[in-house]
Amino acid sequence: AGHQRIEPLDAARAELRRLFGHDDFRGVQARVVERVLGGESTLAVMPTGAGKSLTYQLPATMLPGTCVVVSPLIALMHDQLRAARANGIEAATLTSVDADWRETLDRFRAGALDLLYVAPERASQPGFRELLSSAPLALFAVDEAHCVSEWGHDFRPDYRQLRGLMDAFPHVPRLALTATADAHTRADILEQLGIPAEGLVLAGFDRPNIRYVMRHRDNPVRQLAALMAEESGPGIVYAPTRRKVEDLADKLAGATGRPVLPYHAGLDPAVRSANQAAFVASEDMVIVATVAFGMGIDKPDVRFVAHAGIPKSIEGYYQETGRAGRDGDPARAVMLWGAGDFAQARQRLGEVDEARRAGERARLDALAGLVETAGCRRAVLLRHFGENPPETCGNCDNCLSPPGVTDATETARKLLSAAYRTGQSFGFGHLQKVLTGAEDERVLQRGHDRLSVFGIVDGEEARLLQPLSRALQARGALVATEHGGLALGGDARAILKGEQTVEIVLPPRKERSRRRRDGG
Ligand code: ADP
Ligand code: ZN
Repeated sequence: AGHQRIEPLDAARAELRRLFGHDDFRGVQARVVERVLGGESTLAVMPTGAGKSLTYQLPATMLPGTCVVVSPLIALMHDQLRAARANGIEAATLTSVDADWRETLDRFRAGALDLLYVAPERASQPGFRELLSSAPLALFAVDEAHCVSEWGHDFRPDYRQLRGLMDAFPHVPRLALTATADAHTRADILEQLGIPAEGLVLAGFDRPNIRYVMRHRDNPVRQLAALMAEESGPGIVYAPTRRKVEDLADKLAGATGRPVLPYHAGLDPAVRSANQAAFVASEDMVIVATVAFGMGIDKPDVRFVAHAGIPKSIEGYYQETGRAGRDGDPARAVMLWGAGDFAQARQRLGEVDEARRAGERARLDALAGLVETAGCRRAVLLRHFGENPPETCGNCDNCLSPPGVTDATETARKLLSAAYRTGQSFGFGHLQKVLTGAEDERVLQRGHDRLSVFGIVDGEEARLLQPLSRALQARGALVATEHGGLALGGDARAILKGEQTVEIVLPPRKERSRRRRDGG
């Protein structure tokens, strides 16, 4: 039996060399291709850069009929189209910007196409089912399949229509592809697309050459310039808004003298693509960008990816940092985070649809867990993706220089009480003054020197307040109000009642001693 199973793979390997010029399959590619050629529906979860497109493009050339590929972005489709055609694959797109519809439809019906790319909106139109009935079909490939799940980070309602469409062609196998799916999202994708649980193929997510580092953001220009001084190769800096992109690009160019260009959706399209092209061709450029940047670009020698603010989720973080070091050489992922980032993200939860709020909150909690951990970052990441990694990796900040951890439950209760007793409307600075007993004008004016929490924190303990406030904000026990105050939220009550403990990571020694020198 083994003999028969290997045969189609040998034929596939020959095609892999002939069409794509690759010596052999990488990682789980072989398993996915083997399943697809055997007509078995599959969900392939493979990290960015692992070579997902090949797993449907190659079978599409070998099987009779056309592989219909559902893909969410026109720009991405056209990138794929160009690449496929360059490899001699018969491919076409049916999008609003294509002028050659008639020709494409003729070729499709005649069975002359290997690949037909369509957007989910097109696939969910009633006429599309009829079109599919008129052509020989080889395979349904659903790219970015996490879009079908409300648990995913990028839900697209049109993806929900795909199940009905594919069910009308029960003999055509399905291949769903995604780079980012936690266990919950994976189960949902299988169900929503009608793929049996045994069809899940999970690639290893580890990127051992990437060093993960997370730091509190105190002076992003200085911190990023220091990174750029150590790392002279190409880098990407992600910033949360267009304005911050522009601002950081300017300041980093000034501070380092290195070539630095901005990239965001507000730039003129010609400038944007020129900047992208310049970056791809460069050996020392740094591009400062919003998350719009990076999808579909193939630059193997990116030496660092930095985040100047928190990413949206662990999935987003993994995907964005995954653009570093695709050539396998050492690369760095550096996240500069602030408590305010989490506070704002938690505030925005209020604007999210009720149905998606719990999922969004869980995603934020998971991200806070990654940022706050005193343990191995890689282990947290890989566990998030369902793997069972070793406790330490030797290539993240916490493994390389284990941080001090301290039980700060008592101090947390004092800080939360101070927020509560001052009316949940003052910021950290004020709470710190009250707790340390500062004879500050505003403290006296408000009568906060008469509160039971006045002056109950001193000496060494006072040093815990700042990191503690950040940690409590990251996990949602302290929530920033509209007017810049801190209110109780999430676990605050449980902590106050002594039902929950709070451990915090002490800032790295360097940062601590610098603070001491600065007298803060
Ligand atoms: P993904 O969609 O998973 O992010 P791509 O399909 O864009 O990844 O492939 C990433 C890169 O890896 C491409 O440059 C592709 O040519 C290359 N690649 C894919 N499969 C192989 C292979 N078996 N051997 C060598 N290179 C490969
Ligand atoms: Zn580690």
